[in-house]
Amino acid sequence: MQDYTYRQRITAAMIALVVVCLLVFSSVFLAKESGHDCSGQDCPVCAQMEACSAVIRRLGSAAVPVLLAILAFSFWLTAEIYRPVFTPLLLTLVSLKIRLND
Ligand SMILES: [Zn+2]
Repeated sequence: MQDYTYRQRITAAMIALVVVCLLVFSSVFLAKESGHDCSGQDCPVCAQMEACSAVIRRLGSAAVPVLLAILAFSFWLTAEIYRPVFTPLLLTLVSLKIRLND
């Protein structure tokens, strides 16, 4: 197995984060501006909505399986970074072998 450097792991996580942000913010913009007061021809909001639709079409249709794979792979690569975050959530009295005698 190839040994990835910390820099490669962070780069993979950042690329996945950018793709997710593009999809989420495009969707939010489309949902928010879907009922805007259109000024007619050359409406800047409509132009931006068309750009957001293009982003979602390009990234959303063919890239969803790829995106999920990238997210899973980047999470796997950065698991050592997330471990201190999730470790306190996994601690229970039983896992710590603490007996409550009273
Ligand atoms: Zn418009």
